[in-house]
Amino acid sequence: MARTEGDRCPGVLAVHQAADGGLARVRLPGGRLTAAQVDVLRVAAAELGDGRLELTSRANVQLRGLDADGPQELSDRLYAAGLLPSIAHERVRNIMASPLSGLDRESRYDVMPVAAALDEALCDRPELAELPGRFLFALDDGRGDLAELRADVAVRALDERTALMSLGDRGVRVDWATVPELMVAAAGAFLQVREQEWRVAEVAGGSGRILERLGLQATEVVPLETTRVVAGVHGTALVVTVPLGSLTQQQAAALGQAEVRLTPWRSVVVPSSTRGLEDVGLVTTPDSVWEGVTACAGKPGCAKALADVRADATHLLADVGGLVLADVRGLGRGRRVHWSGCERRCGKPAGEFVDVVAVGDGYLVDGERL
Ligand code: SF4
Repeated sequence: MARTEGDRCPGVLAVHQAADGGLARVRLPGGRLTAAQVDVLRVAAAELGDGRLELTSRANVQLRGLDADGPQELSDRLYAAGLLPSIAHERVRNIMASPLSGLDRESRYDVMPVAAALDEALCDRPELAELPGRFLFALDDGRGDLAELRADVAVRALDERTALMSLGDRGVRVDWATVPELMVAAAGAFLQVREQEWRVAEVAGGSGRILERLGLQATEVVPLETTRVVAGVHGTALVVTVPLGSLTQQQAAALGQAEVRLTPWRSVVVPSSTRGLEDVGLVTTPDSVWEGVTACAGKPGCAKALADVRADATHLLADVGGLVLADVRGLGRGRRVHWSGCERRCGKPAGEFVDVVAVGDGYLVDGERL
C-alpha cells in the first residue's frame, strides 16, 4: 500500500498543533523513566503545558497545551534529563518491551537490557533516522503480552539463550546476543525495500524480502495469543492503572518515587512497596471500573471531536455509581473499552475492544446506539 500523505507523527521537536495548543510526544524505549525523569516531565507539564501527562498506547508520554515557546523549552529540559539522546532519531525510538520483564515469574528473559542496547544501536545509525514515526520494535519476554501489537520487528523469548524474531506471522530462532544488531539490520533493510510505506506489513512480500537480505528464513509460526496484564501485584512489582491514561500532578508525584515503567495499557509499573496511590485516584486492583477503559482526547483538545468523550466516560463509569457498559448493553467487564470522539479512533488498543464512538447526537457501541 503506497502512502500519499507525509508522516505527521508527533514528537518533541515536531509538535502537533491541536485545538488546545501544542502536543508533544516523548518516546520512552521500554517505557522506562527514572524518578528524576518523572519529575522533569511532571514539572514541565505544570509549567509549559496543561498540567497533565498522557500515557499512550505505545507506552510513551504526551504533554498537551504547549504555547509557542513551549516546545523549545521542553526539548531543552528533556535533553538535560537524558530523554532526548539523539535529536535526529527522536521520533523513531519506538521500542516496546514487556513492562514486567525481570520482575515476576512469567518472565523467561529480562528484555530491558536488550531494549537499551537496541536503542543505542538505533541511534548509532544515521540512516535509521529516516524510519517512519510509526515503525515499531517489540521485545516480548516470553509471556506474550505484546503479541497483539503486531510490531514491525519483534522478538519473543523462548528461553535464556534463544528468541524468536519475526516481521510477520512467522519467525526465525536467533541468539539473544545477536538481537539488537539483527533488529536494526532489519530496520535498515526495510528502508531499502520500501517505497512510501510506513510499516513492514504494507510492503508487498516485505517480511520475506527483508529477512532474505539478512540471510535468514522464517519458518516457525509466531503465537498470536496475547496475555493481558492487569492492575495488581506481580512479583516484586505493582501494576497501577491510570484512569483514562491521564496523570494529574498529584498522581505523577505519587508514582514517581522510584524508577517506573509505562505500559501500553495506560498503566504504570512501580515497586510493590509503593504506598498512597489509591488516595490520589489511581487503581491498584483489577476489579475497578477503570480497568481496560481508554479514551482519545475528544473535545476540547481535538478539533475533530464530536463529544467530550473523557467527561462522558467519567460520568458513566464514576458518577453513575459504577454503572458500566456491561449493564447497559450486555458488554462484559474484562473486555477493553475505547471511547473515541470520531471515527478515527485515535489511541485505540491493539487487539479486540468494545468500540464506543461519538456520532454527534450520542454514541454507537460496537455499531449500535448506546
Ligand atoms: S479519535 Fe477523532 S476526536 Fe479523538 S483524538 Fe482522534 S481525531 Fe480527535
